[in-house]
Amino acid sequence: MPFDTQPWTEPGPHPVVPGVHRVPLPMPNDGLRAVNVYVIEDGDGVVLIDSGWHDADAKEHLRTALAALGHDFGDVRRFLATHMHADHYTLAVALREEYGTPITLGAAERPSIEATLQGDTSRELGEPRRWGIPGEISMSDIGVNPSHSRDVYDLPDEWLDHETDIALTSRTLRAVPTPGHTAGHIVFADEAASLLFSGDHVLPHITPSIGFQPVVRHSALTEYLASLRLLLELSDMMLLPAHGPVTDSVHVRVKELLDHHDERLAATRQTVADGATTAYESASRLTWTGKHRAFDTLGLFNQFLAVGETAAHLEHLVTTGALAQTVTDGIARYAP
Ligand SMILES: [Zn+2]
Repeated sequence: MPFDTQPWTEPGPHPVVPGVHRVPLPMPNDGLRAVNVYVIEDGDGVVLIDSGWHDADAKEHLRTALAALGHDFGDVRRFLATHMHADHYTLAVALREEYGTPITLGAAERPSIEATLQGDTSRELGEPRRWGIPGEISMSDIGVNPSHSRDVYDLPDEWLDHETDIALTSRTLRAVPTPGHTAGHIVFADEAASLLFSGDHVLPHITPSIGFQPVVRHSALTEYLASLRLLLELSDMMLLPAHGPVTDSVHVRVKELLDHHDERLAATRQTVADGATTAYESASRLTWTGKHRAFDTLGLFNQFLAVGETAAHLEHLVTTGALAQTVTDGIARYAP
């Protein structure tokens, strides 16, 4: 958005339409810079789409934004979380302890939430062995503290497992499961007001990571692409993303993302034609970020995301019959 006068991360509340406000909250140590929480006025209280990260600075930003709207934490009627990632979910868990505010989350997040609560750190790392990552890798190697993660998670009050209408006082939100970014990701559509709270499913400036969560699903990209196409079947709406500014059209961005993945699938398939046999080898031959950076110039955490992303593309190519796969000694290998 070249004509924006302010960065989207500027503290809110920012009005989107009457009764809906975008509140960017800071995130500790994260390249995404901020996460948008959406505050929906609902009768004498508010409903929040996502919560922000369990972090003192984020909590104060949210308190200040709510106060500017004449509310406090006690006025939050419920949290509707788009998915289980810490920046969307964990401040809700913390505020629930103080205020009893109920939290709704997609049912397919359950295995990953439970793995996190059990402190199953082997699973928090995705599948480095299957992906062909050489050597041992630990969460602390890539800058994530697993015991901290476990401490800030808990189960939600309500699991959503199918498309359903959520009636608020003055509007109806249609909760639509959109697996891919995570297994239980949900978007919330206010079709009457033409608003789509898209979480991380559709982001305006970056392509969401695919399937990065404790319990990996090999079908993550296949599911993600289907979840993108699903949005083209709904009427076009304003895009209210979790990271980045509000934009005019969900459909425009969905088509760009579908094109992006078509290109990445073609490039990933080519790495196998050129001799890459594992996700790690394939990722090493691809370029990364909008700036086409070489794999080995990325930090360890981003290398890890890149290999997981590549694995998701390879698995999809197997699903569509474009590549063959064998799994030996826990390592997935690919061939044309
Ligand atoms: Zn996320």
